[in-house]
Amino acid sequence: MITAVFFLFGLIVGSFLNVAIVRLPRGRSIVSPPSHCPQCKTRIKFYDNIPLISFLILRGKCRNCGEPISWRYPLVELMNGLFYAWIVNEFWIGGEAFLLMVFCSSLIVITFIDIDFQIIPDSITLPGILVGVSIAPFFMSSLTDPLPFNIDRVLPHIWPHVKSFLNSVIGMACGALPLLSIGWVWEKLRHVEAMGGGDVKMMGMVGSFVGWKGALLTIMLGALVGSLVGLTLIILKRRTADRVIPFGPFLALGAVATALYGSDIISWYLGLIRL
Ligand SMILES: [Zn+2]
Repeated sequence: MITAVFFLFGLIVGSFLNVAIVRLPRGRSIVSPPSHCPQCKTRIKFYDNIPLISFLILRGKCRNCGEPISWRYPLVELMNGLFYAWIVNEFWIGGEAFLLMVFCSSLIVITFIDIDFQIIPDSITLPGILVGVSIAPFFMSSLTDPLPFNIDRVLPHIWPHVKSFLNSVIGMACGALPLLSIGWVWEKLRHVEAMGGGDVKMMGMVGSFVGWKGALLTIMLGALVGSLVGLTLIILKRRTADRVIPFGPFLALGAVATALYGSDIISWYLGLIRL
């Protein structure tokens, strides 16, 4: 029952994410004007603006002019609804679940904007970093992981939330610095910008939510999936090796997997090495 409620809640938030995906990169307000058809500019009636349902009833076409509505709208709504249902199932209702919902929704918006425009807006990543270092330390279990050094030796009996806060800050650095240095080396070698500043800030945000271990895992997963997809596209000759494939969506995929199942993935991986 609760799962269903959060699925519906996720769908509704999802339709707001669609507005953000379309308007944020164009520098338009996400509050006004109300949604309208991009073709005939007719304002969309409230009963035609029900997540998923309206798309099915209208069979993916504008009621007024018949212009096809992108399948991405229902896809984004469905993705967000499934994420919320999944999260509330795994983490129940609470601060951590709420933060994970904000985290996943932000990454959905980042993914689709990066696919369309090859940019990752600061208006998502910078507030994300702020939430990551200020609120996440109180709720995120990933930030209670041990730090990369033994802080208890230096500061005995330190308040647990201070440890989580340190983990969040170190996580931010562990997310941003590798991308920053890869981008710097690549720029020196090839004289082209390889890693946009957006990816760096995005990984700063991710690290501040999932901690230093999670940040490194996210980059590993993102690079792994990204290179597999990139190679496949090159083999299928869909793209040449020179064309830049946005890295943000792969990092987002890695980040969501890490936020939901990071500790499971890490212990599975460490188990592999021991074998
Ligand atoms: Zn229309």
